[in-house]
Amino acid sequence: MTYTSPMPVVDGRIYEGSSLELKDLTMAYGPVDVLRGVSLTVAPGTTTCVIGPSGSGKSTMLRGINRLHEPKSGDVLIHGESALQVKPDVLRSRIGLVFQHFNLFPDHTALENVALALRNVKRMSKGESRRIAHQRLAEVGLAERTDHRPRDLSGGQQQRVAIARALAMEPEVMLFDEVTSALDPELVKGVLNLLAGLGQRGMTMLVVTHEMKFARRAADQVVFMDEGKIVEVGTPEQIFDAPKSERLQRFLSEVL
Ligand code: ADP
Ligand code: MG
Repeated sequence: MTYTSPMPVVDGRIYEGSSLELKDLTMAYGPVDVLRGVSLTVAPGTTTCVIGPSGSGKSTMLRGINRLHEPKSGDVLIHGESALQVKPDVLRSRIGLVFQHFNLFPDHTALENVALALRNVKRMSKGESRRIAHQRLAEVGLAERTDHRPRDLSGGQQQRVAIARALAMEPEVMLFDEVTSALDPELVKGVLNLLAGLGQRGMTMLVVTHEMKFARRAADQVVFMDEGKIVEVGTPEQIFDAPKSERLQRFLSEVL
């Protein structure tokens, strides 16, 4: 795996601020606020894991970051630039998002699933898109499976194709939303190892996960959310070994 987050150049200099910054982000569905003033900083090349009960707003936060759902108020900065000022399709190539369900095109091979995104978004030629798609698939361990269609791949392999497709855009930040939740238990570890490897190689990542062991080993920072707010942020040791709030203590006693 050779891919790392590119160091962005702003005004001719390498940008040294945070890769991602949420500033008092509020999001709503209709009249109901489900994200209620979330502020968070993600440093370049680090992994932040987001944990919390179902319905606490984790997915909504990720959808707000790349504007699949427009924030109600607050701001999202990507390398210092307001995401609200970036065209949504450009934003989505700068911030990759991989979901629990991989949404691959069923009638296309693994290679074409990745290559099509490169042609559509990056306007690459067919040859170039296929060359890069091959490279990305090899990086996620699928060099031997490029000509398989999704139905002929395991769930874990399909999720790797989805990850390769997102990485092919050369995103500055990657968001992962419970990417192992739909996988058979024996396939979970391989995908988590792939994420951990990306992190070790310097990818900047925000990872929503129920896998507490993964969060403990792979995260630089762990965020605990409840009822649309961040309740605690800290190192894995702080969050898992010395939780301060009663809510986090209760959550951990239920999941660990
Ligand atoms: P999590 O990912 O932490 O489980 P979500 O962000 O999916 O939480 O949901 C946060 C809250 O927003 C929940 O109360 C959920 O029911 C509600 N919600 C999520 N998606 C929608 C939607 N499309 N329309 C209305 N309410 C939604
Ligand atoms: Mg969710």
